[in-house]
Amino acid sequence: MTTTVAQEETRETRKFQTEIKQLLDILVHSLYSQREIFLRELISNASDALHRMKFEMLTNREVLDPDAELAIRITGDPENGTLTISDTGVGMTHDELVENLGTIAHSGAAQFIHALQEQQQSPEAIDQIGQFGVGFYSVFMVADEVRVTSRSYRPDERAWTWVSTGDDAYELMPTEKSDRGTTIEIKLKKDALEFAEAWRIKNIIHKYSDFVTFPIYVTDEETPVNRQQAIWRQSPSQVSDEEANEFYRQLTLAFEDPLTRIHVQTDAPVQVYALLFIPGKLDRTLLGLKQDYGLRLYSRKIRIQDRNKDLLPGYLRFIEGVVDSEDIPLNVSREMVQSSRVLSKIKSLLTRKTLNALAEMAEKEPEKYKAFWQEFGIFIKEGVTTEFKDQEKLVPLLRFYSTRSEDELISLADYIARARPEQKVIYYITGESLAAMKRSPHLEYFRKENIEVLYFDQPVDAFLPQAIGKYEEFEFQNVDRADIKAPEQSDEAQPPKPGEDFEKLAARAREVLGDKISDVRPSRILVSAPARLAAPEGVIDTGIQRVRRLMEDDFSAPQMVLELNPGHPIVANLTRRVAAGEPDDIVDTAIEQLYEDALLLEGFHPDPAQMVERIQKLLEAATRA
Ligand code: ADP
Ligand code: MG
Repeated sequence: MTTTVAQEETRETRKFQTEIKQLLDILVHSLYSQREIFLRELISNASDALHRMKFEMLTNREVLDPDAELAIRITGDPENGTLTISDTGVGMTHDELVENLGTIAHSGAAQFIHALQEQQQSPEAIDQIGQFGVGFYSVFMVADEVRVTSRSYRPDERAWTWVSTGDDAYELMPTEKSDRGTTIEIKLKKDALEFAEAWRIKNIIHKYSDFVTFPIYVTDEETPVNRQQAIWRQSPSQVSDEEANEFYRQLTLAFEDPLTRIHVQTDAPVQVYALLFIPGKLDRTLLGLKQDYGLRLYSRKIRIQDRNKDLLPGYLRFIEGVVDSEDIPLNVSREMVQSSRVLSKIKSLLTRKTLNALAEMAEKEPEKYKAFWQEFGIFIKEGVTTEFKDQEKLVPLLRFYSTRSEDELISLADYIARARPEQKVIYYITGESLAAMKRSPHLEYFRKENIEVLYFDQPVDAFLPQAIGKYEEFEFQNVDRADIKAPEQSDEAQPPKPGEDFEKLAARAREVLGDKISDVRPSRILVSAPARLAAPEGVIDTGIQRVRRLMEDDFSAPQMVLELNPGHPIVANLTRRVAAGEPDDIVDTAIEQLYEDALLLEGFHPDPAQMVERIQKLLEAATRA
């Protein structure tokens, strides 16, 4: 088949897409101290192109130069101030050059440009450029001119050169290149001549690209500069922390070391090499809609996928790493890999290994586990509520603060180990924050009796009791329930029933508060607080109401039971005034205020400022005498 390329075969000038213009403007004119990362980006692109070539040749031998060594070659010329990076990867056609080096495909790129423009982030933000799919352009930090000459592996395609000086346009022209791949020639800026020196180039390769799995040759040397190790295939005992951490940083572009690594090598039930990492810090975008997570998948050392999401359950999406399996057939398409049965076997294996590693960390390295929990505990909770089959391993990993352990996290096992002998309930409290919960009237009684209550301080916690059901025969109970029973509070041992006069106050309060509440009752558990809002029987957990409050615009506080403490002076005074029978404005105002105080303590008050007027009215009455 012959193609007519005559009209294409002329020089042409094309404008960059607007975002690229903006990006180039910043890159050309800012003085970044981290300029060396441009080489990492170009090597990473060359390595990607080589991986794609290797993959293509699994099924297609009709390619240009099928026997060429898959390698990267870098040559600096200090005299002329040039640097050349060549690869024997897939190369690019005319249209691919336009598509790949003139437009931005990645949707997050605009955000990255914005951040650079505003300089909101540290100057090191430039280091993240590769993650935004615009790594190539970093070359303009050091280049006066960049010339990309490329020839696609497709035998019918010819070579093209793309040239730009980093302003608003680039030129394309047909050229002669007999071999497959891409060559990037850089005319270095005067202040960037160091990057033409072989020692400097090697130093950058060691720093950032040591684990690239294709040989990188520098100048005319015969031995590759990089170590090219498939580190995950090495015996775990031979991988030092230093090497593994370096590999992690090169894989993820993270600054800090990982918290821990999980090195898996097995032959049954599937053959797998995997090197997984728990990062040192949580990437907060993972809590939102971030989609670019997943593990890098190799089959027999050939990279098949960069971000495979099917190798671990969703709740473990914070884990980074590499998985390599001889059992994944090479002749399947990238899409088919997703549905393979081998993959689901690998997934359950990796899940088990990961959860076992966490259990071991919790037992043997409590400080480290605490650090893990603080960053990633929320994902374990997510797992408990979404992945039923992993629950048995996940529940023991849960940690909480409690009324008896406000600074040290405890497990459910710790809780039941020191529960009262007659206790068959795990008590918990939900609230806006730890600070708010500590002040809650629901806890008074439990504190007095020294009965431990867990603090459920994250919204997701509210879903745990339902998901877990019972833990070792212990049910979960929210201490805000109206029907709460403390272990030794049998039905007979009820406090004396308040008199008829209290019932009059309750009736008055029901009238004043109307449908804001479901009932007014004397409290069995309040100690020194005058009132609390308790969840009526049959109402879903208030913790879940709190989640709804975060998500729904028109949330209104649930109808709760207002419990009054008959022994409290305010309640006693009110009881007396109501019994005296006088219509009393202060009584009604005080009832409203007691209710709203309780609402505020629950974190359900829609508009606290609105209380001020009433409080002042009460102050006026109090100061009148
Ligand atoms: P990313 O690598 O994240 O896609 P880059 O800006 O680094 O973003 O590169 C843009 C695109 O240019 C790449 O996706 C690739 O298609 C193409 N490209 C860059 N360098 C090469 C190369 N050496 N060989 C083949 N294609 C390349
Ligand atoms: Mg890139």
